[in-house]
Amino acid sequence: MTTQNGIHQEGGTHNAERPVAFVTGGSRGIGAAVVRELARRNHRVCFTYLSNADAAAELAREFDATQVIGVNADARDSDAVSAAVSRCLTHFGELDVLVNNAGVKRDRGVTALSAEDWRYVLGANLDSSFYSCKSVIPHFLEQRRGAIVNIASVAGMIGVPGQTNYCASKAGLIGLTRALAAECASRGVRVNAVAPGYIVTDMTQSLGERRLDAAADTIPMRRLGTPEEVARTVAFLASDDASYITGQVLVVDGGLIS
Ligand code: NAP
Repeated sequence: MTTQNGIHQEGGTHNAERPVAFVTGGSRGIGAAVVRELARRNHRVCFTYLSNADAAAELAREFDATQVIGVNADARDSDAVSAAVSRCLTHFGELDVLVNNAGVKRDRGVTALSAEDWRYVLGANLDSSFYSCKSVIPHFLEQRRGAIVNIASVAGMIGVPGQTNYCASKAGLIGLTRALAAECASRGVRVNAVAPGYIVTDMTQSLGERRLDAAADTIPMRRLGTPEEVARTVAFLASDDASYITGQVLVVDGGLIS
């Protein structure tokens, strides 16, 4: 269907040369690298952000609005996510890829961890992905095409002290990935996860230089990863090059948990 202003809406013609991706938490770090990498690979991208409007506007300005738009939407709010997905569909006319990247950490030993700390992290890292999957899955199933990439973490595969909430959220996201992959595989929809180790972003910079140097010493490749290294893995899993891969967790950690 085409609106009066010429924008194709849900059910419009599929442009296989220029797939459309919806990326949560795209204003900074890994999410921003994913936006740039997908755009470089000829995708059109709608990304969301929470509070960093300046960074979001700066990223969007790197591109034409016919290729990349940023939308303010709290990933913990199902109505806001659903509205952002609708905005993406109205703007670009179709949707092929969902990247659930928005995430936070609030590290404390379990005795100091409040119920609010727990809910904050589970809400932003796990509930958020359920909401965006719920919004896009009916569309993906109907068109019998779609790829979802969830940004998990090696912390969801091993235990990290002081991160019970974060580890639980990422282990939950891996469970969601596998179950949804099994549920949707026969309808042409693939669901995978990427599990980064230590990556250089604001999230890890908050640990401080001394702890990051110590972390690097524990990594077989002796360095932290870059957001671009994660982004290229996400782009691979989102692409047809990964057409027979679903329900998998691809670890990008320089050998940390090998
Ligand atoms: P980051 O630099 O702190 O960036 C987080 C991004 O998520 C920002 O764009 C932020 O938006 C957005 N965001 C946070 N809460 C949100 C919400 N409720 N609604 C919408 N957007 C929200 O983090 P990062 O290191 O790039 O992490 C990205 C993902 O990778 C997270 O899921 C994280 O758990 C995962 N990860 C990171 C590492 C690492 O070492 N960095 C390792 C493993 C996994 P604003 O800019 O508006 O605040």
